[in-house]
Amino acid sequence: MKAYDFNLQQWQQWCTEQGQPAFRAKQIFAWCAKGVQPKEMTNLPKPLIRALEQMGMGGVRISEVHPSADGSEKYLYTCEDGHAMEGVLMQYQYGGSLCVSTQAGCRMGCRFCASGEQGLARNLTAGEMAGQLYAVTRLHGQRPFNHFVLMGCGEPLDNYENVVHFLKLVSDEHGMNISLRNVSLSTCGLVERMDDLAQENLPLTLCISLHAADDETRRKIMPIANRYAITDVIAAARRYEHRTSRRVVFEYILIHGVNDSVEDAKRLASITAGMRKHINLIPFNGAKNGFTAPDAMTIARFRATLEENHASVTVRRRIGADVEGACGQLRLKAHGRQ
Ligand code: SAH
Repeated sequence: MKAYDFNLQQWQQWCTEQGQPAFRAKQIFAWCAKGVQPKEMTNLPKPLIRALEQMGMGGVRISEVHPSADGSEKYLYTCEDGHAMEGVLMQYQYGGSLCVSTQAGCRMGCRFCASGEQGLARNLTAGEMAGQLYAVTRLHGQRPFNHFVLMGCGEPLDNYENVVHFLKLVSDEHGMNISLRNVSLSTCGLVERMDDLAQENLPLTLCISLHAADDETRRKIMPIANRYAITDVIAAARRYEHRTSRRVVFEYILIHGVNDSVEDAKRLASITAGMRKHINLIPFNGAKNGFTAPDAMTIARFRATLEENHASVTVRRRIGADVEGACGQLRLKAHGRQ
């Protein structure tokens, strides 16, 4: 473990082992949450600073910044061992929201997504996820976001322990103190892990990448659909809603000619009927496997059909399209350059 991985309790233990008074733990934890290096931790004694330098921070460094015309900003991060992943800072009316990566690469292999194109390199540590928040905060001089979403590279529930540890770290009042009510976690629907997450009592919003309303279509675009039937995913979503009393969000990429018909919309409304849900439609972004986004009329018709069937619906704005905002695109490009 490295410094940015430690929670307060772990620092307390570490300070005891180092023969240091307990109050040092809070100091170190607060410094780490600012994303600083040991030599900047000005109120610590020299031997502690040296011990921290030996341990290493385990964060990430921003290696590229791509500002977009729409005000969003895309980042390429590099881990200490050279692995790359990415993030994007988006500006909404309610403030900034940072899209965070949870894995270098991804092993889910969704056919429309660039993140999984080269498979999974490795899981990110909790410190590397927190490090993304720290690096962007330092770049801006102050924290430019109140919200963050686990929607960057990777499948968060495929890196469950580290993701949960990370969420507890950054929501700690002695650390970054970000309310998990301002956090969304997006999953392709790993059913057992959704059940585990429901038991953690974290007040975050669970988003489920459904992307199809029948198994045959889903299997064509998401290999994970061979493991879990849509009925199992929806049942887990209902259990999650029941257990946490929190409204879940279904994400649905609209791909021309694949899943964008009125029948698809009706089926989507019917399989999620009776839930306090929200549906987020995401017009396909990028160019992959011949996929394209539907035209505006088709998107409007899909939305209207859902609304006629009493669903709350939004269509996601295209953010950062000019800087390759869709997950994994920038990382792939960086790979190509190596
Ligand atoms: N693995 C998680 C989070 C990753 S991506 C998940 O599957 O939910 C966050 C969202 O962006 C997911 O809904 C994902 O399916 C979607 N996405 C990926 N590639 C996309 C693309 N090219 N166009 C639009 N949405 C995309």
